[in-house]
Amino acid sequence: MQLVRVALDVPLPTLFDYRLEHATRELIGARVLVPFGRGQRAGLILEVGGAPQVPPERIKRVTQVFTGEPRLAPDLLDLMRFASRYYHYPIGQVVMGTLPQALRRARASPDPEARVALTPAALAADWSALPPRAVARRRVLEHLRAQGPCAPVLLRSLASTASRALKDLMAQGWVAPRVELPRDTTQGAVHSARSDLELTVDQDKALRAIEATLGRFAAWVLLGVTGSGKTEVYLRLIERVLARGGQALLLVPEINLTPQLEARLGARFPGAVLAGLHSGVPEAERLRRWRAAESAHASILVGTRLAVFTPLPQLGLIVVDEEHDASFKQQEGLRYSARDLAVLRAKHRQVPVVLGSATPSLETYASALAGRYRLAQLPSRAHSQLPSIRCVDTRAQRLREGLSSELIDALTRRLASREQSLVFVNRRGYAPALVCLACGWSAPCPRCSARLVLHLSETCLRCHYCGHEERVIGACPSCGNLDLTAAGHGTQRIEHALGQLFPAARVLRIDRDSARKRLAFERMQQRIQAHDVDILVGTQMLAKGHDFPRLTLVGVVNADSALYSTDFRAAERLFAQLTQVAGRAGRRDASGEVLIQTEFPDHPLYQAVQRQDYAAFAQLALAERREATVPPYAHQVLLRAEAPAREAVDHFLGRAARAGRRLSFRVEIYEPVPASVARVAGRERGHLLVQSGSRNELQRFVDAWAPCLSTREARRVRWALDVDPLDF
Ligand code: ADP
Ligand code: ZN
Ligand code: ZN
Repeated sequence: MQLVRVALDVPLPTLFDYRLEHATRELIGARVLVPFGRGQRAGLILEVGGAPQVPPERIKRVTQVFTGEPRLAPDLLDLMRFASRYYHYPIGQVVMGTLPQALRRARASPDPEARVALTPAALAADWSALPPRAVARRRVLEHLRAQGPCAPVLLRSLASTASRALKDLMAQGWVAPRVELPRDTTQGAVHSARSDLELTVDQDKALRAIEATLGRFAAWVLLGVTGSGKTEVYLRLIERVLARGGQALLLVPEINLTPQLEARLGARFPGAVLAGLHSGVPEAERLRRWRAAESAHASILVGTRLAVFTPLPQLGLIVVDEEHDASFKQQEGLRYSARDLAVLRAKHRQVPVVLGSATPSLETYASALAGRYRLAQLPSRAHSQLPSIRCVDTRAQRLREGLSSELIDALTRRLASREQSLVFVNRRGYAPALVCLACGWSAPCPRCSARLVLHLSETCLRCHYCGHEERVIGACPSCGNLDLTAAGHGTQRIEHALGQLFPAARVLRIDRDSARKRLAFERMQQRIQAHDVDILVGTQMLAKGHDFPRLTLVGVVNADSALYSTDFRAAERLFAQLTQVAGRAGRRDASGEVLIQTEFPDHPLYQAVQRQDYAAFAQLALAERREATVPPYAHQVLLRAEAPAREAVDHFLGRAARAGRRLSFRVEIYEPVPASVARVAGRERGHLLVQSGSRNELQRFVDAWAPCLSTREARRVRWALDVDPLDF
């Protein structure tokens, strides 16, 4: 009887001991059913052998090993172990949380396909080591090697004991069901398969440099201005990887960007099997795609952050597109950075990883400057000019519903020449607040420390933090004033104003309210492509990655607020956002124009945006970060807590701070503070920041500190550790 240690979806930082006859190390990564509490649970074997952690008589038996299912490969298990350690999240929850739903359930997963094939383990193994009497097993192996994937019934004729042999081979992890996807999962290819496109000198240089590192680890930063042809470089690299029989993993920040990219990949690689993995994929289909990747049938995997945990036996390249995007960081549960894990995975697997962006995160850029990552640059657009960017000083004039005369003139010119324009507004709704100018009252959310946003299209006041809705009131509840004012400009208000100014123009608003459903967004994109729209009004949803050929003007309406933010990353985000949105202008032959309305036209940030000089901005921002000793010049862990009562939060965090100070590590423990939005949906939120110049020291500190956090008081709050936090 052997001991196996099993990962279970239980919020405890441990593996669980079970007994299993004839268990060997081959079973590591296998899914099992085990008794737990009063029921049965699915888990994954992570260790075989070793000393039991509980008295042997209390160790129960494994109920069942799901022999027909794939096993998670050691490199993936290593990645999960690392994620559990580094992000201080229970190993069982990490492992089970990354699996498709069907593999978390306490029963055998539905077998999507009835074909079986050799696994990479079998291909790598030495078959002569099989015992001489294993005739049937040998025949099955030889047959699968010669014929490729095969339905199990067809194997029966190979030997009288072929079924038994197949079962054994599956238990051994040498044969596994092979899941196949239809070859073309994309609809309506928008881009043609132009692999004959002649690369620019810079693209060629970048490609050669990165290509030279295929087959070993290298972390590349591909710093290329918007429209410089970064995607083209990815495609060429993928081509090389596929030619060597490898798999490529492409991570993208947003589900909305995957259809465009999938279409482009599908058109370029019609012979390759492509799988897209993101939250919009239905569960059953997700399992199929996951297994297609796992059995190396799919050779290109495009996905959002969770896809970083997909098994890819032939992995040859990882690309993280728009690597600066905050959505690569998960904000709940396992608070991992898919970008950082992608680098780690590449290192484990000895393959290159490419982090692409026009505005890399300062952490990434600093790593490139320090020589930890390598830098490849595409300083100009592939086949058009960068747009001209100009600030419009709004102090010098009266705006018409938030719009300057320069922007109105520019819009007028685009309408006359039948070109498209985009007005970028960073707020949804009609106006960010409903205020009384007589007494200063503004409509608050009863459940959050936030103001309600006026939504005129839905005639309501809505909280953007908790979703609370109220009817629009007619009089100030504080002083009775009947004349309440809508303060500031949201997308609906700008949409309305544009409708009044240009009654003949077709105005389309795109924000999370109008594009709630994914199909709605796709339909809107089609309208834009079909030139069924003259002026787009939208939030950052529109800024990322999209390619609208007729768009030649971008106006930015109210960006200044980020300049006074206390968040040390606000400037970086603003720079990235403005660069991205400006990058939508003039991507085809027409030259683009960008107008940024601001009260601070001389601000160094806007100066750098105007010159489109990322390096200058980064240098400035990094100097400030160094001065302030914040990331990337320090490493951070945030202890977050929330509870209905402020007192419980303060008490918990206060105790945690004191417990931390009693430990002697070279870390700085700050005072607990309320979160930037202190109350959300009736829950008070606060946090405690711990910082250190050394990542290792910080990790050692948290290892020692975390056990002190689960006190009796801790039950009154919901708390979590956030390593490398992005949000405060
Ligand atoms: P990025 O990903 O850097 O924003 P893309 O790869 O999407 O840029 O390229 C922008 C546009 O330039 C696309 O329309 C693409 O087809 C085109 N393009 C890319 N490389 C070249 C090239 N070498 N010659 C001509 N056009 C190119
Ligand atoms: Zn609210
Ligand atoms: Zn009032």
